[in-house]
Amino acid sequence: MAREIGHFIGGRQVAGASGRHGEVFWPMTGEVAAHVALAGATEVRQAVLDAKAAQADWAATNPQRRARVMMKFVELLNRDMDKLADVLAREHGKVVADAKGDIQRGLEVAEFACGIAHLMKGEFTDGAGPSIDIYSMRQPLGVVAGITPFNFPAMIPLWKAAPAIACGNAFILKPSERDPSVPMMLAELFMEAGLPAGIFNVVNGDKEAVDAILDDPDIMAVGFVGSSDIAQYVYARSAATGKRAACFGGAKNHMIILPDADMDQAVNALIGAGYGSAGERCMAISVAVPVGEATAERLIEKLVPRVEALKVGPSTALDADFGPLVTAQHLAKVKGYVDLGVSEGAKLLVDGRDFRMQGYEGGFYMGGCLFDHVTADMRIYKEEIFGPVLSVVRARDYAEALRLPNEHEYGNGVAIFTRDGDAARDFAAKVNVGMVGINVPIPVPLAYYTFGGWKRSGFGDLNQHGPDSIRFYTKTKTVTARWPSGIKDEAEFSIPTMK
Ligand code: NAD
Repeated sequence: MAREIGHFIGGRQVAGASGRHGEVFWPMTGEVAAHVALAGATEVRQAVLDAKAAQADWAATNPQRRARVMMKFVELLNRDMDKLADVLAREHGKVVADAKGDIQRGLEVAEFACGIAHLMKGEFTDGAGPSIDIYSMRQPLGVVAGITPFNFPAMIPLWKAAPAIACGNAFILKPSERDPSVPMMLAELFMEAGLPAGIFNVVNGDKEAVDAILDDPDIMAVGFVGSSDIAQYVYARSAATGKRAACFGGAKNHMIILPDADMDQAVNALIGAGYGSAGERCMAISVAVPVGEATAERLIEKLVPRVEALKVGPSTALDADFGPLVTAQHLAKVKGYVDLGVSEGAKLLVDGRDFRMQGYEGGFYMGGCLFDHVTADMRIYKEEIFGPVLSVVRARDYAEALRLPNEHEYGNGVAIFTRDGDAARDFAAKVNVGMVGINVPIPVPLAYYTFGGWKRSGFGDLNQHGPDSIRFYTKTKTVTARWPSGIKDEAEFSIPTMK
């Protein structure tokens, strides 16, 4: 029988009160595994009030103690890694090894947040003028919220929540309604780690819950990750109520292959980055750009058999390269894009549309697809497909290869494969994209750097995790102090300067 998933508010699981529910599938079998409550404005408001009541004490808890809670939380994530990965793989569809990577990449940001006592230090200038000292301090914002996508149900909630909480904020998470179980498990682990009730809350839901968050006057900041149109909507509506917002959107990540690249390495990179997690990654490579006809021919010759040999399997199979897509609806959308590519005139070299998984006929599977001779005017090039579909766009020369990602509306990640240091350096300097890989196909920066795309892949000024996350979840206060021995015995009418 399908489980019921409610919310996590005020330190405990509570049942939904809106009367609305969504279905949560296991993509590998297609069965409905759970019903998730979809919150209305009343439940969101309750979570905000609980969070607000708890936040002041948490902010007043010294940073080393807050760090100790985070350290314990990291220990618990490691303890429960296998259990979390199993639930994550079943609900999302990705294979277990990849689910562990999802959790690990989130855990690493929690590890980064353990350094909060150092990270939140302000600045101090002794003797900025006669008997004058200046110092700045970082203070938490209050109650903040995170709205996250289906494709990384552990990593992205942790990218948002761990720095926010470590900074002394209370956090409301609105995870994807498609895979809400792992976020609920994270809430239990935070409580076990000693986090006070009300500091980490999970409100499950859809647009109704999101709009209630965006309009709530007590939520000071919103971090969003998802598709670009919704990211832009969340950014604009957050700004309308004076919130700080950082909203990350979709992607179309190119991998440029120069003639001197090691072709075996490039093909391995394309296979992993193009088809891993069934292409449902914002940093997946979805466009390969070989430079020159000879490079294109060598690439295609090696790539086709590798795409044909991809092993699709249920999420729990240890030997599968990737599992099913997240829902039947998303599967239909991805297959629709493959149909569209054929009608637009691209050459479909490998067709995975008819793949059926024996014994799992109800699951949401498709095989890997490979298009050649894709051109920049086609919709399959312009739009994000978010499935196991790789497009090859042949470039005449380096200048054309650089122009393609530069002129694309998305600007999340990009990679170049070459042995030529000069070309790689030129590319890194000139490409109009937020994260660049040199012989690295998925250049997701580590936790102590920041992650963020450009153009329609990111709305807002600050990135996720790393130093930007501390800036995003705190406000700076600057104090100028003059001691009585330095104060002149007269009124000053002009603006003070250091002349
Ligand atoms: P989505 O935009 O459908 O959903 C994201 C979140 O927004 C969910 O919590 C969802 O409930 C909510 N939402 C959906 N429709 C809404 C609406 N009309 N109004 C308000 N809220 C709404 O995205 P998804 O399908 O869950 O995730 C895949 C997308 O996320 C892809 O586009 C992918 O590229 C992107 N993504 C981006 C990054 C990044 O860092 N740039 C990382 C991961 C995923």
